[in-house]
Amino acid sequence: MAVIISGKEVSAKVRAEVKAECEQLKSKGVTPGLAVIIVGDDPASRVYVNNKKKACADVGFVSEEYALPAHTTQQELLSLIDKLNNKPEINGILCQLPLPKHLDEKAVINAISPLKDVDAFHPSNVGRIMIGDYHFLPCTPAGVMELIHSAGIEVSGKNCVVIGRSNIVGKPMAMLLLHENGTVTICHSKTKNLKEICSNADIIVAAVGRPEFVKDDMVKDGAVVLDVGINRDENGKLCGDVDFKAVEPKASYITPVPGGVGPMTIAMLMKNTLKAAKLQNNIE
Ligand code: NDP
Repeated sequence: MAVIISGKEVSAKVRAEVKAECEQLKSKGVTPGLAVIIVGDDPASRVYVNNKKKACADVGFVSEEYALPAHTTQQELLSLIDKLNNKPEINGILCQLPLPKHLDEKAVINAISPLKDVDAFHPSNVGRIMIGDYHFLPCTPAGVMELIHSAGIEVSGKNCVVIGRSNIVGKPMAMLLLHENGTVTICHSKTKNLKEICSNADIIVAAVGRPEFVKDDMVKDGAVVLDVGINRDENGKLCGDVDFKAVEPKASYITPVPGGVGPMTIAMLMKNTLKAAKLQNNIE
């Protein structure tokens, strides 16, 4: 039987800490502000944006939503970002992805000031993460690390396997584990003998985007299993990348879906926005 690491509990703790720090900042005349841009009417993006706005209100931040129509041009989007880059009350800017196909995501990410890039997707922030000298960590991998720390799990010297190599989850996740002296293997769709590699892992992070992809025969007894996936199973029920029922009895620690990594992502976004407000106001 595994210990179930509750992202609900850990994220509530992080948010309470951010809220307390926000009150202190307010007493110094600074209220952290987050601008959230959404282009088009993707229902999943709408839910994420609403959750982010609600989280801002809960911790005491100001949030501004910029809901743009799906036919917004690249130039219109870039000039909005330029305006927000120069707006002192806004400390963090995030543009909800994915964008409609006619817009150039890379150019949009590059246009956000690195000091306001609370998603940590800008190449300058990605580079900083690589060398371990960063302002912000990308929210989902940072949330996974917070869960690992909350459970008192030691990463140093452990065999860590990250399944998935996306720029927003897999790659930075591997880097964060490496910074804590894990021996890290990154797996992807071209990886051969995935089962064998996973079976040797002390820590597995699944960021594949495939329902219940990680089965019990891929997990060794006592492994720590962190599930980033947010999928729907064949019945439309929310599920992760890990077959929780089968894997949980073998694992030492495991995160559930929902209630695991998911709530951490927004909590870490709040943490990054707070940090951005401090940086921009020269507050330690
Ligand atoms: P991507 O689709 O960008 O990346 C998926 C990765 O999984 C790719 O690197 C891909 O390999 C790899 N992969 C796919 N199939 C296999 C396979 N059969 N064997 C091994 N590797 C495979 O997804 P994201 O990284 O954006 O997201 C991953 C999951 O995490 C999704 O379910 C997403 O919804 C969820 N997510 C959750 C968040 C949260 O807040 N909890 C935040 C962000 C994402 P290749 O590169 O070769 O194609």
